Amino acid sequence: MIKYPKKVILIDLDNTLTDTEGNSRTAMRLMYEELGLSAKFPPFDAFWSVYSSCNDKLWARYRDGNLSRERLNELRFSWPMSLMGVEDSELTDRVCEVFYKYFLPMTGTVPGAYELLDYLRPKYRLAVLSNGTKSSQIVKMKNFRFEPYFEKVYLSDDIGYPKPDVRIFQYALNDMSVCPEDALMIGDDFEGDIVGAANAGIEQVWLHPAGWNGERPVPSLTIRTLAELHSVL
Ligand SMILES: [Mg+2]
Repeated sequence: MIKYPKKVILIDLDNTLTDTEGNSRTAMRLMYEELGLSAKFPPFDAFWSVYSSCNDKLWARYRDGNLSRERLNELRFSWPMSLMGVEDSELTDRVCEVFYKYFLPMTGTVPGAYELLDYLRPKYRLAVLSNGTKSSQIVKMKNFRFEPYFEKVYLSDDIGYPKPDVRIFQYALNDMSVCPEDALMIGDDFEGDIVGAANAGIEQVWLHPAGWNGERPVPSLTIRTLAELHSVL
């Protein structure tokens, strides 16, 4: 339950508004086909599974402060490729280049993203709070036509601390001149969005299609779809 009336809503970008998982998978398949990777690598589903497992681990290490952005970018393709037996820096660069060629223009959203933004915009001050890479996030804000909805965009690359570090939340609150009770964080990542916001004293909405399953701290509210927020906020 959300206890306090809100002035500011902080919203995560990837997999909360943008369907980053779905867009990445599609871009990866197009890259895999264009570069003829089936000659050197396992079939696409296995390739994707190795890539996404490595990617999840790298992002978790970045979030926990144990991996720099530079190192994350270096390892993003080279690590899964080496696990599949290919160590080839030229091919790694090509994979990265062709992946982004397809990924960056993609505009698949989480269902209900624009409807939610249209609903929230007249009632609240909105800000993005994201750990995503700055260069990608700038392109996404533009391509998804998100810019008019948001008063501010807070990126860990600019602020210097990734979620769940409380300092990124405190930075946003100070910058928007509101206290923690006045703000709400909406996000899909339990560790980064929910634990981080809770530690900063901000109430949280966890977008989690599987629902709450005993996780601690208990989110202020868990939703399975964005549409549920229309009756709450
Ligand atoms: Mg996210």
